[in-house]
Amino acid sequence: MNERIYEKDLRLPALYLISIKNGKINTTELSQLLRDILEPSGEDLEIITNRNDDYFSQIVRNLTASKRPFVKNGYIKRDAKAGSPLFITNKGKHYLSEHKLELEYLLTNDFEYNDIKDNLKKIETENRIIHSFDENVIILEGLKRVTEIAVYERSKKLRDFAIDYFTDNGKISCNCCNFNFQDFYGEQIGKGFIEIHHTKPIFKYEDDDLENTLSQAVTNLIPVCSNCHRMIHRNRNKPLEIQILIDSIIANGIFIR
Ligand SMILES: [Zn+2]
Ligand SMILES: [Zn+2]
Repeated sequence: MNERIYEKDLRLPALYLISIKNGKINTTELSQLLRDILEPSGEDLEIITNRNDDYFSQIVRNLTASKRPFVKNGYIKRDAKAGSPLFITNKGKHYLSEHKLELEYLLTNDFEYNDIKDNLKKIETENRIIHSFDENVIILEGLKRVTEIAVYERSKKLRDFAIDYFTDNGKISCNCCNFNFQDFYGEQIGKGFIEIHHTKPIFKYEDDDLENTLSQAVTNLIPVCSNCHRMIHRNRNKPLEIQILIDSIIANGIFIR
């Protein structure tokens, strides 16, 4: 897909960011945060003729303008005065709460801009409920919150499916460096341990078949050890391409695959 980003695609990320800033933000800060988190690229960065600004800034400015639908329809509140802060309204909070889990997953997993953008468009235009998966919920198993149980259970199914899919001769190893937790730490401590990296966001519409979703989803998953996973996500918002990491491991010559 990869169309340009539109004002409405930024409504949910904006609401999310205002809410984590305790409900109030100024426009400059919001613009900067959206840029930091989404890391726009391609034609959304083109400078608009006769302006000093790129398309992305223009869209954010339009989004928060007092005459535009986002403010007019009551998702956020602001004074008409230029530079006045933005406040999230109850309507905005409610709208965000319907999509909070998908948003959290999309914005905290360092996906690429085009993948985030395409999925924001889907969330905005689809009337069906979209279910998310989230590996972070699995990793923080002991801390999982009651509201996230459904995500936890769905993510666990995805994880189990992936482990089953990638297990070879009873073993699952890092697909980047080949590290195997069981071989290194011994069976009792290391057996079956692996992290799962999502190369693209995985969502499921409520009426989609889970088995079907899972078998398609595995093509966007990769089992990795904790070190490789950290390296992939070392630059926030810019996950390293798997092949670059593998090439780099091989070129370095210390770890023989
Ligand atoms: Zn590894
Ligand atoms: Zn990852």
